[in-house]
Amino acid sequence: MSEILILGAGMVGVGTALALQARGHAVTLLDRRPPGQETSFGNAGVIQAEAMEPYAMPRDPATLLRYALGRSNDVSLSWRDLPRFARPLLTYFRASAGRSHAEISRHYARMIARVRDDHRPLIEASGAGALIRESGLGELYRSEGRLERAVPEARRKADTYGLQLRVVSGEVLQTEDPAIKGPVAGALIWDDSWSCIDPGALVTAYAELFRKSGGTILNGNADSLQPAQTGWRVQSDTGEVVAEHTVIALGPWSADFVKRFGYSVPMLLKRGYHTHLHPLVQPTRPYLDAEHGYVLAPMRAGLRLTSGAELVAQHRPQRPFQLDQATRAIRTLIPDIADGNGTIWHGHRPCLPGMLPRVGKAARHRGLWFNFGHGHQGFTLGPTTGHLLAQMLDDA
Ligand SMILES: Cc1cc2nc3c(=O)[nH]c(=O)nc-3n(C[C@H](O)[C@H](O)[C@H](O)COP(=O)(O)OP(=O)(O)OC[C@H]3O[C@@H](n4cnc5c(N)ncnc54)[C@H](O)[C@@H]3O)c2cc1C
Repeated sequence: MSEILILGAGMVGVGTALALQARGHAVTLLDRRPPGQETSFGNAGVIQAEAMEPYAMPRDPATLLRYALGRSNDVSLSWRDLPRFARPLLTYFRASAGRSHAEISRHYARMIARVRDDHRPLIEASGAGALIRESGLGELYRSEGRLERAVPEARRKADTYGLQLRVVSGEVLQTEDPAIKGPVAGALIWDDSWSCIDPGALVTAYAELFRKSGGTILNGNADSLQPAQTGWRVQSDTGEVVAEHTVIALGPWSADFVKRFGYSVPMLLKRGYHTHLHPLVQPTRPYLDAEHGYVLAPMRAGLRLTSGAELVAQHRPQRPFQLDQATRAIRTLIPDIADGNGTIWHGHRPCLPGMLPRVGKAARHRGLWFNFGHGHQGFTLGPTTGHLLAQMLDDA
């Protein structure tokens, strides 16, 4: 069985390492930080079994104008970085058109349909069950009109993909989840989805499972990767590693990284922020507050608020105004809530404009593999694309 090196120990890299290990390969994971400390740490922790269709870019002029004028809390655009994003945005716009999005969703849904089956054995074997809640994901609507408009589309998705959907009134919701106190018209509850109360800890638990099963985890910088006579070599803190195959699983850093080997992969980085607040009573599940464009997710560290997308280059400083707005909005929903310590985290959803992750063989280099670009759902999809890549590698 081959020696395989995986660069990047987020949910995707760790998921891939476990899948390859299960097939009998000798696998080394290399990261400059401990596993699960970057994007896979700071997300909303939802294992999105309901996300059968990837987020399309809205194509109606009114919504695009709202985005352009900064009147939406879902998406904000850094005008000075627009030239950098113009090409992928245009591709994203085209890919979001009805027929094309339907075709992409056909592939996406096949992956999402198996995510719980791919996470479940890892959760069990790593003893991480206490981190997982099987209480679904809610979509909250403050106004009757918005709820009424959302229901037909939600029912279409539920019927198309066989998902469990409940449409509940504000009153029923508040009985089911007493933490929600403010006026709400109602909610869509996607009962198939799971959530994690500490996403970084779940990746750490999976990485520990990999290590205990004979895998190697090393600290080192992927930038030292070079082709070798029989494969690839990279420098770790404890010496050189040589492997027949290398998998690039560097999340939002992947597109820049593969440029050095001549691959141009346009990536849209959608920045998100989080902070923690402390309610008197924690909600029972995560919710998307649909009219204010943020997710509230009960976590071990408090109630995590995660912001919508800011299209901005990775190196720019924080401008967490979407999070500020979310913090104001949540106080009208959960009034008994205390401030956290004020720490604001940010990271970037690694989105490809075609909305599907890049999983497979690099076109021009023997033994080089890609597994990145999981966008809004990498925490959900990591173990699944890990299996897909492992199968491709064995079939090659
Ligand atoms: C605010 C927010 C909320 C989200 N909510 C959800 C959610 O609820 N559900 C969901 O499924 N997804 C969610 N996502 C998306 C999800 O977090 C990402 O898709 C996923 O974490 C990507 O995983 P990854 O392993 O590809 O990248 P990462 O987790 O970022 O891992 C990449 C790794 O590469 C390493 N690395 C980078 N460069 C180098 C180098 N030169 N040398 C060595 N190592 C290097 C990094 O240290 C890192 O560990 C959210 C994202 C954000 C930002």
